[in-house]
Amino acid sequence: MQPGKIVCVGRNYAEHARELGHALPEQPLLFMKPGSAVADLTQAVAIPLDCGACHHETEICVRLSQALCRASPAQARQAIDGVGLGLDLTLRDLQAQLKAAGHPWERAKAFDGAAVLGPFWAPEQLPALDELEFFLDVDGQRRQTGHSRDMLWGIVDLLSHISHVFRLQPGDVVMSGTPAGVAPLAVGQRLRLGLAGHELHTEVVAGPC
Ligand code: ZN
Repeated sequence: MQPGKIVCVGRNYAEHARELGHALPEQPLLFMKPGSAVADLTQAVAIPLDCGACHHETEICVRLSQALCRASPAQARQAIDGVGLGLDLTLRDLQAQLKAAGHPWERAKAFDGAAVLGPFWAPEQLPALDELEFFLDVDGQRRQTGHSRDMLWGIVDLLSHISHVFRLQPGDVVMSGTPAGVAPLAVGQRLRLGLAGHELHTEVVAGPC
């Protein structure tokens, strides 16, 4: 099922906030991608070629099976039916221009193929939500490593917080932010992603349309 929306969190890891030159946020920085932005991480990853640098942001993603509205952390935990990895593809040059102008980020974050989602595993098949390690290798080089304990807001608290801002619906996905190490992708690169012993392999191609 295609999610109705993908809710994303900016600057949820201190080191990543620092690498982009930002102060730490006082509350989660939220933005969204539409369902039409979803692409499949088990297929080739298609990046736009005519909009400047397209960065990878490797993120733990959770999918909901129930609606959440002003939910407690316990209710939020109950609503998670899948945990996986995704790439929050970001047109970094364009985003910098939009930020400088005080404009919304959709042009840099919500394009077709900008939410690349891998398979979702049942939470019981993985370690606890605050014990999830993950990584991205590009052409055999480690580019990003992350651990969910390093999030400024953990997954369950994030879901609860988001549900006080807007309703989350069954099938919606939350991308929980990227650790440090974001960098541009290039056509032909081979990607290897890992989450708690599960691995995905793919490559970068030109696209998305
Ligand atoms: Zn992100």
